Amino acid sequence: MVSLWNYNRHGMQKMNKILKEAVISVLLFCTVFYATLQVDWLRVLHLTPTIVGDKLSEWTWEMMSSNIKEVEDDEVRLPIDTLMREMCVANGIDTASINIVVSKTSEVNAFATVGKHLVVYTGLIKKMDNEAQLCAVIGHEVAHLQLGHIQSGIRRQALISVIMILVSGNGSGQLSEIIGDMISNSITRTKENDADAQSARYLHAMHLNPLEMANALEKLDSYGVFSFLSDHDDSKKRADRIRNMNFSDNGPYRQVLSPGTWERLQRSCK
Ligand SMILES: [Zn+2]
Repeated sequence: MVSLWNYNRHGMQKMNKILKEAVISVLLFCTVFYATLQVDWLRVLHLTPTIVGDKLSEWTWEMMSSNIKEVEDDEVRLPIDTLMREMCVANGIDTASINIVVSKTSEVNAFATVGKHLVVYTGLIKKMDNEAQLCAVIGHEVAHLQLGHIQSGIRRQALISVIMILVSGNGSGQLSEIIGDMISNSITRTKENDADAQSARYLHAMHLNPLEMANALEKLDSYGVFSFLSDHDDSKKRADRIRNMNFSDNGPYRQVLSPGTWERLQRSCK
């Protein structure tokens, strides 16, 4: 038979146990939290920043792509895939490594983002005079990816931002904006010039007129394409730099898409 005292003693013991467990839990949590801040987990777990970066890039892209109105129309998708494939093959780039998406957006723009994703707006396709100019803009963004302009420094910052957004509970729109800003901020004037020159070389290797890179720069200066340096003087200087590159004769220049395919592509982007 259990007496009242015994019952109380038993209850007290139970209370003490719960209290002890609570204190241990709090201590454990604090220790783990402190340790998390102190330890270089990437090194301890033998993870390279690339593995973490790849996962992060996938995750970031998933969130960003929810704001992209991807065009499914074959009249648009197929010619863009063809131009992209031709550019990759002619320049020894792994075609599968870059994911190109067309977004139904009237804004005249194209951009590359983490995880080797490249987004082209229908507004840009509509404005281009010919396929070589469109390839010039795509090539500029491919060059940013191939030259490592997007990856460098972005992943670590992106990780911090993702954690902050998770903690604050803000949406994917803000994330896209933050990542976009980080990419713009990390692309310097030198990197822009390097991407322009590289894109002109891509065109040359494809047997397309590399000077269309210069024409595209001048044509698009008023739309703010090619990142943050978009004032007129700058576009003119960038175009002149391309014109002074002295490409070897690689003509006659060819037409990748038939005139009919190019026309349907532009019409479908209206
Ligand atoms: Zn750029």
